[in-house]
Amino acid sequence: MLHYGGRQASLSSLVALLSLAAGEGAMVELVASGADAEAALAAVARELQRAGAGEDAPPVHAGTIPLSSASLVPGAIAGVAAAPGIAVGTLHWWRDTAPEPAEAGQGNATERAALRAALAGADAQLTHESQAAAARGAAAEAGIFAMHRALLEDPALLAAAEAYIDAGKSAGFAWREATRAEAALLSRMPDPRMAERAADLLDVDKRVRRVLAPAPADTAAGRLPAADGTPVVLAAEEFTPSDLAGLHLCPAQVAALVMVRGGPTSHAAIIARQLGMPCLVALGGALARLADGTPVIADGDRACLLASPDAHALAAAASAMRQRAWQRDTDLRDAHAAASTRDGVRIEVAANVGSVADAANALPHGADSVGLVRTELLCLHEAAAPTPAGHRASCQAIVDALPGRSVIVRTLDIGGDKDAAWLQLPPEANPALGLRGVRLAQVRPQLFDDQLRGLLAVRAAAPLRILLPMVTEVDELLVWRERIRALAREAGAEAVPEVGVMIEVPSAALLADQLAEHADFFSIGTNDLTQYTLAMDRCQPELAARMDGLHPAVLRMIAATTEGAARHGRWVGVCGALAGDPLAVPVLIGLGVTELSVDAALVPGIKSRVRALSHADCCQRAGALLRLPSAGAVRAACREYWPAQAPAPRNDGALARPYGECQ
Ligand code: PEP
Ligand code: MG
Repeated sequence: MLHYGGRQASLSSLVALLSLAAGEGAMVELVASGADAEAALAAVARELQRAGAGEDAPPVHAGTIPLSSASLVPGAIAGVAAAPGIAVGTLHWWRDTAPEPAEAGQGNATERAALRAALAGADAQLTHESQAAAARGAAAEAGIFAMHRALLEDPALLAAAEAYIDAGKSAGFAWREATRAEAALLSRMPDPRMAERAADLLDVDKRVRRVLAPAPADTAAGRLPAADGTPVVLAAEEFTPSDLAGLHLCPAQVAALVMVRGGPTSHAAIIARQLGMPCLVALGGALARLADGTPVIADGDRACLLASPDAHALAAAASAMRQRAWQRDTDLRDAHAAASTRDGVRIEVAANVGSVADAANALPHGADSVGLVRTELLCLHEAAAPTPAGHRASCQAIVDALPGRSVIVRTLDIGGDKDAAWLQLPPEANPALGLRGVRLAQVRPQLFDDQLRGLLAVRAAAPLRILLPMVTEVDELLVWRERIRALAREAGAEAVPEVGVMIEVPSAALLADQLAEHADFFSIGTNDLTQYTLAMDRCQPELAARMDGLHPAVLRMIAATTEGAARHGRWVGVCGALAGDPLAVPVLIGLGVTELSVDAALVPGIKSRVRALSHADCCQRAGALLRLPSAGAVRAACREYWPAQAPAPRNDGALARPYGECQ
């Protein structure tokens, strides 16, 4: 197997290898198992050296990376893992039923109007799906739908479709031909990531045709088999984002997704990861030949699909699933205890919250506190800007859902990829670099005064802290800190809440020592810090695989933050997605972070990860990672230094294998 960027592919499948999108000069790992593993590794390493760019080719360290015991099950179909996990079920083919349009049109004006109306209808659907995804915090998914909206507006596509209409064709036929022609061009591109984008065009084609000719009796969900308790492994030539959005997949009914084509960077794969279902792509013709109803094991950990498994394979799969479930249950059982490293350093594991439901979910998952309330998510879809009473009510509900837990409330971070219709801001060419966070407060001070008045009126038994997003310099912090003090005085508050700064802009990380003089704490927003440090749009799905917070440059920003904070005795938390990445946890702890704020469901696993680590060891090793050449190299080193936890002891004789490995 060849491992790259947290994914793996069998060396026997060219399609699978191409789908890894490992470009020239990429650092890859080879993993082999079995009796002749060492010889196979040496042979492949020799070939890679020979095929490499001559003397400058990077060295291949065969055998220096610990071998995974995972091996391809004999007879299994090799694919590419797009989402981890293992599932047993019955194969069910998802048939694409976008209506085939009639070729002949009913007149130029009628068909043009029909096409425009269908484009507007599809745009409304995509806007809704994009906003719903953004509200769930699924930024990548929201980005996909936003990109599809842009395709709908593509003037070249529209011109091509209208030319067909002018030649007497129907709106549906014209749109299909125009998009298919573009998709055919894309799919011939040598860069597979470009080729995968053809699927986006075809998805937009289908969506528009479904709007043109809806089939109410044959809804997407209706084409799933009846829920009779047998889990289904849903198969398709290639799922598109609109297929998955329309399916409303329920894990009790659909256990895994498998595709003949597709790549791990395809948008459907991104959505599958977000759904948390095992997902395999690029399984090829071998999958296409399997009939409806075939029993299968979909193994997203070993990137393979086993058809008609025998009793032994089923027992092994059941064992692996039990082990996963055991780990989940064990983590959950221990989640209510504090998390300390093996050498006794306490790490607070908090929850990120964007709704009252999230807050309620934090309690059973053992969150020590709330590390981030994204208050903009509480009011993004309101009809009007919230009043002070509205702000108070929504925050009070969150505080009340977590009795006795401290809560960090971030002031509105609207702007960037989070837009509120009631704000009516003029469109910006670069919203991520525009009026967002406290910058918006500077032009709309009333908005923030209203929120601060609401927050100061919340009654809480434990500390309620205020966090300022997108701060770039000390003066900004001083202005807002003073405003909070003034409003607290005006409200007759007994004490002024602690005020923290989000470190999510490189300038804030570089000025951390200055900011720490006036801030009570820092919370590092690694999502934006990564976006702004690497100059990569966090909503750009093409860049999703490279938007890695373990990039050495981002780690240097984090190190600058903790060093600056330490000079003034301030504590530092992380509330971006990196805090929930088990591979990153030892690095963050080693760099001096003492609070990790993650989605509630991740709290038990992150606590368990913390307990398995030695703080001294993390500190000793973390510094060296800052000198590595890439995020991939950091990840490889982390896997070697801090491997996944040992599997549970087995007592049932079934085949046991490691799982839950950090990707
Ligand atoms: C971040 O940027 O990491 C963060 C936590 O804030 P948001 O994702 O809401 O921008
Ligand atoms: Mg942010």
